[in-house]
Amino acid sequence: MSSTPSIHPVPAEVVAPVFCARGLSKIYRSGEVEVRALSEVDLDIARGEFIVLLGPSGSGKSTLLNILGGLDVPSAGSLRFGEHDLTAATEAELTTYRREHVGFVFQFYNLIPSLTVRENVALVTDIVDDPMPADEAIDRVGLTPRRDHFPAQLSGGEQQRVAIARAIVKRPDVLLCDEPTGALDYQTGKLVLEVIARINEEIGTTAVVITHNAAIAGMADRVVYLGDGRIQRVEANRRKRKPSELSW
Ligand code: ADP
Ligand code: MG
Repeated sequence: MSSTPSIHPVPAEVVAPVFCARGLSKIYRSGEVEVRALSEVDLDIARGEFIVLLGPSGSGKSTLLNILGGLDVPSAGSLRFGEHDLTAATEAELTTYRREHVGFVFQFYNLIPSLTVRENVALVTDIVDDPMPADEAIDRVGLTPRRDHFPAQLSGGEQQRVAIARAIVKRPDVLLCDEPTGALDYQTGKLVLEVIARINEEIGTTAVVITHNAAIAGMADRVVYLGDGRIQRVEANRRKRKPSELSW
């Protein structure tokens, strides 16, 4: 077999997916009861992609996101993060993976009430290599004027933006968001999604966002529909839309 040298070699990080999942399955067992949460999921996610995960309650969205983030392990199948085989990782290696590479945002903000916005974000900068300055992360979520306030002085949407600042300050490779707007009204939720979209665009952080709201699917590069623990279909958007362009 002859190999033709490429004139413009494509850098490996452009073509190599961040995640490569093959045959991922998850069965939860408690006593006699078995719940099949995920079945044979195959999915590649490219660097810088914005993925929206849609599907009814119980369809396996959180299970998939938690496995991608190293919070849970599959019962079968393989998952690679770049060169790393996460399915072969020890608990200690998964902890390192989460700390160094993954930013999580959940429905509830889990901020420390006795610390200011800046202090909540700065906590993370103490435990990771090469964080961005806390003030930069706060600026990226539009909360500079509120940085000396305490969580109780902020609205739900603002608290969620602090949680996003806390997730991105470590410069994660991937931002995993599980129903980040689940506790917010719709205008506020839209603002939060706008912040996530802007971070994906400006810093190129790969983002996977779970939502119940099909209307935000237009923001994504690709929309992955889960049903019954399986990928039902994947749709690519030809043009990503800004959250402000979507009506919902
Ligand atoms: P989604 O996020 O789409 O609502 P989940 O991934 O949370 O769905 O759950 C998928 C299925 O797995 C559901 O039937 C759920 O009840 C079950 N499940 C999730 N976590 C557990 C667990 N820790 N123990 C037992 N069953 C679970
Ligand atoms: Mg869920």
